[in-house]
Amino acid sequence: CGIIARVGNGNAAETLLSGLENLEYRGYDSAGIAVQNGSGVKVHKCSGEVDRLKSSLDTRPSGNIGIGHTRWSTHGPPTDENAHPHTDTAGDVAVVHNGVIDNYDELRADLQEKGHVFQSDTDTEVIPHLIDEYLDETDDTERAVRKAVDTLEGSYAIAAIVDGEEAVYAARKGSPLVLGLDDEEWFLASDVPAFLDHTDQVIYLEDGDLVVLEPDSYRITDLAGEPIERSIDTVDWDP
Ligand code: GLU
Repeated sequence: CGIIARVGNGNAAETLLSGLENLEYRGYDSAGIAVQNGSGVKVHKCSGEVDRLKSSLDTRPSGNIGIGHTRWSTHGPPTDENAHPHTDTAGDVAVVHNGVIDNYDELRADLQEKGHVFQSDTDTEVIPHLIDEYLDETDDTERAVRKAVDTLEGSYAIAAIVDGEEAVYAARKGSPLVLGLDDEEWFLASDVPAFLDHTDQVIYLEDGDLVVLEPDSYRITDLAGEPIERSIDTVDWDP
C-alpha cells in the first residue's frame, strides 16, 4: 500500500489526495485521509480507488495537517470500515499503516479488556488504540508513539495525527518511508512520487527511526529517543 503525510500551510486535503493517486501503483483496494483542524481529527475513507474517495467528498475537508493511505489489504476484506486511517475509540488518534502486525490478536484482546472498542477487522487498528492507551499513561505523545511501536511485532511504516496537536508522528520497521522537505512544508510517504510535484529534497528513513513533523521543524530519533542525523538527498527522478 502507500502512505502519505503532510504538514504545512494551507489546506492539506488536495495534496494528500493527489499524492495518493501517485501511490496507487502500490495497492488500491481502498483509500482514505484524515486531517487535523480546529475542530478535531476528521477521517474520510472508503473501499475502491482514490477517485471514488475524491468523488465522495463534496468539498475538501479543511486542515493543514493530514495523513492518507491507499490500501492493499492483508487482514480483513476491502470494506469502508477496514479502509485506513483507523482511530482509537474516541476518534482522537488517527493512523495509517503499511505492513503487517504479527501480534495484533493478543494486543487487541488486551486492549478490549481495557475497554477499547474496535471497528474493523484489520491488524492496523491496534496501533491508534495503543497510542491512546500510552497517552493516558505518559501524557506525552512522542513517548506514547515510541512505546506503541516498541510493542508492535511485524512490519510497519506508520503515520499518526492526534487531536489538538500540530504534528505528524511516524515510524518505520521493514516498510519504506521517505521524508520530503520543501521550504514551507514537510511530507512523509512510502515513495517519492507521492510528493515529487512539491520537492525533490528527501531523507530516506531507516528501520527504527521515529519522526516528528511540526510546522517549523522536524526531528528524527531512534527508539530510545536519541536524536539521529540523516543526510538530505536530491532525487534524480525521470518520470
Ligand atoms: N495490514 C494492513 C491492512 O490489511 C495494511 C495493509 C497495507 O499495507 O495496505 O489493512
